[in-house]
Amino acid sequence: MLYPAINRYGSEVIDLSLSEIFMRKEVEIAMTPKQASDPSGWKTAFAHALRIQPGRIKYLNPIQRSVDARSNKIKIRLKAELFIDEQPAEIRKYIRRSYPDVSHKTPVIIVGAGPAGLFAALTLIENGMKPILIERGKDVKARKFDIAQINREHIVNPDSNFCFGEGGAGTYSDGKLYTRSTKRGNVNEILSVLVSHGADEDILIDSHPHIGTDKLPAIVAAMRQTILEAGGEIYFNRRITEIIIQNGRIKGAEDKSGNRYEAQAIILATGHSARDIYELLHLKGLTIEAKSFALGVRAEHPQALIDSIQYRQSPRDPFLPAAPYSLVKQVDGRGVFSFCMCPGGIIVPSATEAGQVVVNGMSNSRRNSPFANSGIVVQIDPSDISHLSAFGPFAGLEFQRRVEDACWRAAGMSQSAPAQRISDFTKGITSSSLPDCSYNPGIVSAPLHEILPPFVSGRLQEAFLQFDKMMKGYHTSEAVILGTESRTSSPIRIPRNAETLEHIDVAGLYPCGEGAGYSGGIVSSAMDGVNCALAVAKKYRKQSAQSVKY
Ligand SMILES: Cc1cc2nc3c(=O)[nH]c(=O)nc-3n(C[C@H](O)[C@H](O)[C@H](O)COP(=O)(O)OP(=O)(O)OC[C@H]3O[C@@H](n4cnc5c(N)ncnc54)[C@H](O)[C@@H]3O)c2cc1C
Repeated sequence: MLYPAINRYGSEVIDLSLSEIFMRKEVEIAMTPKQASDPSGWKTAFAHALRIQPGRIKYLNPIQRSVDARSNKIKIRLKAELFIDEQPAEIRKYIRRSYPDVSHKTPVIIVGAGPAGLFAALTLIENGMKPILIERGKDVKARKFDIAQINREHIVNPDSNFCFGEGGAGTYSDGKLYTRSTKRGNVNEILSVLVSHGADEDILIDSHPHIGTDKLPAIVAAMRQTILEAGGEIYFNRRITEIIIQNGRIKGAEDKSGNRYEAQAIILATGHSARDIYELLHLKGLTIEAKSFALGVRAEHPQALIDSIQYRQSPRDPFLPAAPYSLVKQVDGRGVFSFCMCPGGIIVPSATEAGQVVVNGMSNSRRNSPFANSGIVVQIDPSDISHLSAFGPFAGLEFQRRVEDACWRAAGMSQSAPAQRISDFTKGITSSSLPDCSYNPGIVSAPLHEILPPFVSGRLQEAFLQFDKMMKGYHTSEAVILGTESRTSSPIRIPRNAETLEHIDVAGLYPCGEGAGYSGGIVSSAMDGVNCALAVAKKYRKQSAQSVKY
């Protein structure tokens, strides 16, 4: 039996048969955004939908929450497990994992403390191995100063910036945890580990979980604490510059100051911006391959405009979150799509070296900035850049470099970014003025339609016009685009054996995460870290402990 739409309490039963009511039941209802904002009223809303006394619901375990903006009356859908007339035997929202003492166990080197490296370290500990985590950047706290320096003084520290340092590119990111792919691993386990290190439990139920830049550093620091307490080791300010291989097997690694680390296995989780690591592997004769990637611009609109398009309300209901969007269009045989959309966010400078301008986006947990930004990028296949074939597997990197350099020059050789109103970009004219923008180092009017290679800018121009058909008002003079969004994914893959996850040329070397070309985003990188650590444990755990020298 189906129950009708929203009742006087604003709740709606989606599909519930009274005869099916028994002690434990999963039920989904729809509530007004205001009702949904107050968990203390949830039991009453469910009870009214079920037409039972609220007191009969002994326990309510929320499972999933999402915004349903399909009709003009926007609802929040909440799915919960209800215990009626009975207490649950056990309430386990998530499994708190245990981390045994591994201080005397077999060491494994992990290069890079991003999501892949941190989750690899925790998984090694769970599996009785000792992680030696080596990170070129600083700890989260010290890293803040270098990030402030990019914004204020336009100085980029090549070892400590928005991409490099404790927590990797994930720390000062947006903290969207949207991956729902179950192919690579268990998303809920990754979210549970984040919750047990301080993330809000809401991420376990939200259909689009989000942590926020303001909360990520403390979570990363708590993960560090877990690793250290279990006897793992972590070294900051140590850039790995050499990988030691003997007879086709890993023996250890060396950092730029000459410190040596010995182990039979290295998990290489250095991210997509560690260009020196690709060069090191190539110099050592290890295979690396060109792969497709994406490049474009970051677009910023007033959040109120995106809210009015997506929610058809202005101003938006104060109980609704800042509205997101997701856009994709095929243009001339290539995908053009929105990437890492940050409602209520800001655009940030993500260069990793001097002489380049790279942009990305982030938001705090409340998503309360007046702007909405998103990468709008064009898929690039190696065949699109055949003019750079002399660079071999580095063709994509060289392409990124050239566009990043062109943006740097166009905006006055600083961390200011070249910018153009979207409507001027599609017309092919330089903007005579620019709207307000969240990008801290500042923006400079420049002809992005000419700065970007024609096969990128032409597709972007067409896509913006097409996007306006999908979101009326998206193509507007109120919106601005900044160049360049070039680090959405790695242009290089470090090939590995599909079963053992080791590099195809070296036993004991585990290319891992986004930089190796096996993930994109925080959750999938974390899952790849888990998978690599499990592969290492399977092969090396039973062997005796090695001595580690520093
Ligand atoms: C501003 C911004 C916002 C983002 N927002 C989101 C988001 O909302 N959601 C999402 O899913 N993803 C987001 N991302 C992407 C996400 O952060 C990455 O996909 C993810 O961090 C990749 O994880 P990783 O561990 O593979 O690599 P990284 O996070 O890149 O970590 C690699 C680490 O290796 C270290 N390293 C590199 N070379 C060496 C060396 N030679 N020696 C020692 N250490 C080295 C680096 O310093 C770095 O800390 C964002 C990225 C940025 C920059």
